[in-house]
Amino acid sequence: MAGLRLYQPSRVRDLLNTYDFSVKKSLGQNFLIDGNILDKISTATQIGPEDLVLEIGPGLGTLTEEMALKGAQVLAVEVDRTLEPILEETLGGFDRVQVLFQDILKTDIKKEIEDRYGKRPLKVIANLPYYISTPILDHLFKSGLDIEAIYIMVQKELADRIVADSGNKDYGSFSVYVQIRSRARIVTRVPATCFMPKPKVDSAFVELVKKEPPLGLDIDRMEKIVRGAFSKRRKTVLNALSSYGFAIEKEEIQKALALSGIEPSRRAEDIAIEEYILLGQNFPAI
Ligand code: SAM
Repeated sequence: MAGLRLYQPSRVRDLLNTYDFSVKKSLGQNFLIDGNILDKISTATQIGPEDLVLEIGPGLGTLTEEMALKGAQVLAVEVDRTLEPILEETLGGFDRVQVLFQDILKTDIKKEIEDRYGKRPLKVIANLPYYISTPILDHLFKSGLDIEAIYIMVQKELADRIVADSGNKDYGSFSVYVQIRSRARIVTRVPATCFMPKPKVDSAFVELVKKEPPLGLDIDRMEKIVRGAFSKRRKTVLNALSSYGFAIEKEEIQKALALSGIEPSRRAEDIAIEEYILLGQNFPAI
């Protein structure tokens, strides 16, 4: 099978057979087998020799191989140690690639990166089981690492929520959570047929480019307020916030809304991120 790339279905089948590897559904092991999608990912990430990349969930090494061929330095974190012999075959020839067998959610990733490469900006790329997409994003955003961009494959519906603007049916507190930290866009939609084995859901590959939050904004506080606003979608923002349990008088909330230029009769899903930022700055102590 020499000469074949890892996205090629015959190579994937050959690796699985040679190593008698049973795919673990519980770890979301659906391997990318579409060269066009890989090209789109590669073009969007613009990864090159100057880049340090943290890859989460290399699987057989399909995305890793692509980045290694572009000359990047890669640390790939994979939870499934039974993939070790396969990854040795597929990635062993790239001396700028290291694989760490650990659960990313239980890894002090800042320490792992800094011990190896020092304090450096990096990019993250991940195609992971979809039930851990949101904890992973939280883990990364709060890791203290200087992450220039995150490129992540997620379930189509989550991608729609991530990129939604106010007024869109998919806009919610998670859209605000991501967009306050990054400029988000869908690079490409990815049908289930692009993976082996074929998953039950369609996917999308999303780009999140780091954005500095406004100076002095306490993001955690703002997010609590946003969660409060979205807690009762059918109520007005004033009623949702006053019944959320903030222990603040309704009049105080009304005043903060007025200072932020937000009509109290509006609903959480119609309030733009810039308005939530103002509300975060004008809201009483919580
Ligand atoms: N990147 C490969 C690709 O695109 O073909 C494989 C993707 S596969 C959808 C997900 C990979 O993430 C699997 O190899 C799985 O074992 C790994 N994985 C699942 N949970 C993980 C975790 N908590 N930490 C690190 N890797 C994990």
